[in-house]
Amino acid sequence: MATRKGLLALAEHVLRSAGIEEAGEEARRILEDVLGIKKQELCLAPGAEVPESGEKCFLKIIDERKTRKPLAYLLKRAYFRNESLFVNEACLIPRPETEILVDSVARQIINDEEISILDIGTGPGTIAVSLLRMLPKTRATLLDISGEALDAAGRNLGRYGLQDRAKLVKGDLFSAFDEESKWDVIVSNPPYLTTAELENAQPELKFEPECALDGGKDGLDFYRIIVPSAWRHLGSGGLLAFEVGAGQAETVSTWLRDAGYDNIQRFRDYLQIERVVIARKP
Ligand code: GLN
Repeated sequence: MATRKGLLALAEHVLRSAGIEEAGEEARRILEDVLGIKKQELCLAPGAEVPESGEKCFLKIIDERKTRKPLAYLLKRAYFRNESLFVNEACLIPRPETEILVDSVARQIINDEEISILDIGTGPGTIAVSLLRMLPKTRATLLDISGEALDAAGRNLGRYGLQDRAKLVKGDLFSAFDEESKWDVIVSNPPYLTTAELENAQPELKFEPECALDGGKDGLDFYRIIVPSAWRHLGSGGLLAFEVGAGQAETVSTWLRDAGYDNIQRFRDYLQIERVVIARKP
């Protein structure tokens, strides 16, 4: 039987040879997951033996990770703000920069306001679940074109007891709703990568759903549709909030201004890239 330490050393080597930078950290996370233990426990007894079934399961995951399939898909879990979210392969894996979007929306809402939110392209419910948990009086509609992504979102709503304040809707942008439907906040992290960015992306990205990443030639296809069509679905004073790709904030702000929105604000992410644009319908 192999020890924890032995398996970790082997796995780190395998993952590093596959070009994975955080090889040691990832190997440790996989072993913790397989054994169902916490980091502290692993550190306390690195010499403990791993049962054969655990070893087999661990090596199978390492083998799959070698193909550069993202760890979140292998462990079916991703972390976002204070949530641990279930993800499947129909979901975009939550990114830390999306926290900036969630924070900038939350800052616009008074804690006990009864607000309705539409999250377009919700994936595993990343934005909506976070906002519903932060703002106890809000209700949310979670829209996605993928039924499988909505399954994940439903599980995450259930995990945090939010089903009663949320509705899952399958559809393509606003075509899923009648013309009179209105929300106080419309938020979206739409696909915004350009065709060239997608082609040159790191191997992990190829495993993520293209329909969650591909924003067309200039990456802006979804803003072209959402900016004008959100107007009729927002009440007066309503908020429209986007995550945008690198270099897109200026264009999206201009489109918002031209469409009649005001109070346009932009926020940078941890790498100082303009990542979020928000605006009000007057
Ligand atoms: N931020 C993601 C990435 O660069 C893209 C997400 C999106 O297209 N909305 O991998």
